[in-house]
Order: sequence, then structure tokens, then C-alpha cells
Amino acid sequence: KPKSSKADIPREKSALLFEKAKKYFPGGVNSPVRAFKSVYGTPLFIERGDGCFLWDADGNQFIDFCCSWGPLILGHNNPKIKEAVVAALEHGLSFGAPTALENELAELILKNNKYIEKLRFVSSGTEAVMSAIRLARGYTGRDKIIKFEGCYHGHSDSLLVKAGSGLVTFGETSSLGVPKSFAEDTIVIALDDKEALTAAFEQFKGEIAAVIIEGVPANNGLLLQDKAYIQFLREITQANGSILIFDEVITGFRLGFEGAAAYYDIKPDIITYGKIIGGGMPVGAYGSSAEIMMHISPDGGVYQAGTLSGNPVAMAAGIAQLSELNKAGFYKELNKKASEFVASIRRYADAKNYKVKIFNIASIFWIAFTDKENIKAATDIAHESMDKYKILHRELLNRGIYLGPSGYEVGFVSSAHSKIELEKAKRAIFESLDVVF
Ligand code: PLP
Repeated sequence: KPKSSKADIPREKSALLFEKAKKYFPGGVNSPVRAFKSVYGTPLFIERGDGCFLWDADGNQFIDFCCSWGPLILGHNNPKIKEAVVAALEHGLSFGAPTALENELAELILKNNKYIEKLRFVSSGTEAVMSAIRLARGYTGRDKIIKFEGCYHGHSDSLLVKAGSGLVTFGETSSLGVPKSFAEDTIVIALDDKEALTAAFEQFKGEIAAVIIEGVPANNGLLLQDKAYIQFLREITQANGSILIFDEVITGFRLGFEGAAAYYDIKPDIITYGKIIGGGMPVGAYGSSAEIMMHISPDGGVYQAGTLSGNPVAMAAGIAQLSELNKAGFYKELNKKASEFVASIRRYADAKNYKVKIFNIASIFWIAFTDKENIKAATDIAHESMDKYKILHRELLNRGIYLGPSGYEVGFVSSAHSKIELEKAKRAIFESLDVVF
């Protein structure tokens, strides 16, 4: 441990809770990355959140840049969302029947989004993407899909596929329990590689149902793509009668109300949403033109359903959150705050000649230990970056800053992060970088 390190925060209660959790859950968690396997120490058990702050079981307070992995663009425990949720609770938790709240959330989205005409609510990002893929296959009558190495689209079978060894190969499954035959219909290609994509379309002419890409790839570092490349995806899919899916589970309502589609001003055929759309409750959605959505049951032959889809309490949370985001100037202010925060960390690192870059788009940022000015493909991320991140993460926790527990994760700035807290966070990041280097 370097000399200038700060003493570790108390973790006794979290450690005890983790021991108990290990008896109940595989790895002690209900989602793998929460186990803190890539960083020092046991996971922190969180007791509560308010604004940009989190408190753990040992009473440690943190300024939170994980924000529940993205949904909490207004921070924790936002009073307007809480009020809306409590009001909805008064009427009951779930009916398994249509409610006016579904209409209200849909209207709020569709009236302010020129890229989709109809949507369907589901309960997670995984479900949204899985359903979008099924729709694309049902609509085109084709089976194969193309995904990109470094993009995560949830844990449905056909998307848990990683790149094979060649440029254009079938993927191999990246999880036990996914049949090889599923992976054979998923073609994995490196991002930012037009030739590989062209070759795939030539090799599988007339067989590609869809190309799916994250609005901005943000699950394996923040891999900022050129608009020209996204435009190329639009053109090649159109030319081949394939569907282009933007997975906007992270970028939807984060880059702006209309997400990455508006950021590039490129219209995909299907868009998926999750995270922010539910205001912290489990909601996902997929949307498209009325013509394509007509193929979903009960009108069409593509089956998709959900007991808790459009859950009234979740809809109320989504309406409250999106109503705030839809106010004039919301994104401008948030994005400015985030970019100033990032810029001052960059200035500090540059002045000290530290080999670290902070990539940023809107209110998303990613700290990478590299000297590359841009990283567009997952294969360009050096593993040594993760070792340094591990040190950074520990130093930041010890200074009251909570970032995602892996160097591949991005951070999120919320509207609840005030200038004062961002200033504190900056100072903690400067000190922690000093320890890393
Ligand atoms: N798609 C993207 C781009 C995501 O980032 C995620 C989750 O992180 C998912 C899909 C899956 O969403 P969920 O975890 O809600 O199932």
C-alpha cells in the first residue's frame, strides 16, 4: 500500500452481512458485479441514499457516481418521484390489467421522441432487448444477428456471446448454459470496423435479421464511436433489409430526452430503453414504427408478455422522473456540470503527466489508465488499466467517493450532484490519482 494512502473505512457490518448473504445467494449477491470481485474488499451493503449521497451499513457516507448503474439521473430519493410512488401505492401494487398510468408514460415519451411511434413496456433492459431481437427476427423472417464486441445487451441467451478469433466468425457462448446453436446465430464483430461488417453482410447475404449496438457503448469502458460509423450501420442495414437496433438502456434519456438517436440524428428501426425510464423502479421498453410494432402480439405473431409489465407504481416513478427531464434546460445544465467536472480532472492529470484519460459524453464519464486519445474498440483497453483502477477505487472509497467496482464501468453525474460535492469529489480524485501514480 503506498504511503500516502488513506486508512480503510470501517467495513465490519458490511462484511458480516456479506457472510450471511453468501449463505443465501451465489457469490453473496443478486447480480455478479456487485460482489466487488475486481476491486479491494467486500461489497458495501447500502442502507440508504439521498441526493448524491449513499450510506452503507457501517455508517460510511459516499458521494455516489454509480447511481444504481444509471437510472438515478435525479439522484437518490428524489422527492417528486417518492411522492408519485407513494400516491400510486395508495391505489394498489399491481392489477395485471391496463392502467391510465401506462398511457401517461407512453404519451410523455412518444410525444417527445420522433424516432419511435409505439412502444411496449417490460420490466428490465434485458427483457427489452430480448424482445427487440425477437421482433426483428419475426419481422424479417431471418435468424442471424450481429452484435459488437464490448457491447452488453443484458443476459438473454443469444446476446451472451463473445467474439470468436477471426474478423468475421461465429461467436462462442460467454456463459455456460447457452447452447452452441444459439451462438451460431450471433455474429460478433469489433466496433469501428467497417470492413468486418461489410464482410459479414456479404458472407451471410439475406440472413441478417438485425444489427444491434449500444447507443454509445458504455458497458466495457466508454467506447465513443464516430457518427460516420453509426451512419454506416444505418446504411448497410437498410441496403440489406436488416433491422438496426439502438440499445439505449444506458443512453436513453441520458444523452438527452431522445437519447443517442437524437445525438447522432440517425433513426434506427427499433430502440430499447431501461434504467432511467423507470425512475429507479424496474421498467424497460422497446419501441419502433407503428408498422413494425404491429407484429407484436396480440395483433401480430411475435409473442411477448409480462405479469408485471407496465406496473402502476413503476409507471408513476417513470412519469415523475421523465417529467423532470423534459423541462427546458435540464440536460444542458447537467451536461455542462459533468463536462466541467471531467475537464478539471483532465487538467490535473495532464499537468502531472499522469497516464490517465477521462472520457466523457453528456453526464457519463469513464476513467481509463491509458495515453490513447480515443478508444473505440474493446480490444484497445489495456488490462493494466484495471490494476490501477483497483487502487483508485479503494482510495476513493476511503475518501468518501463511490464509483462502480470495476475499471470497465462508467460513472454517472446526476442533477443532485451540486458544485460543492463535485468540488469535494474532484479533490478526492486528485489525491487518489497521486496515490496511483
Ligand atoms: N442493455 C444495456 C446497454 C445495458 O447497459 C444493460 C444493463 O446494464 C442492459 C441492456 C440490461 O438491462 P437490465 O440489467 O435492466 O436487464
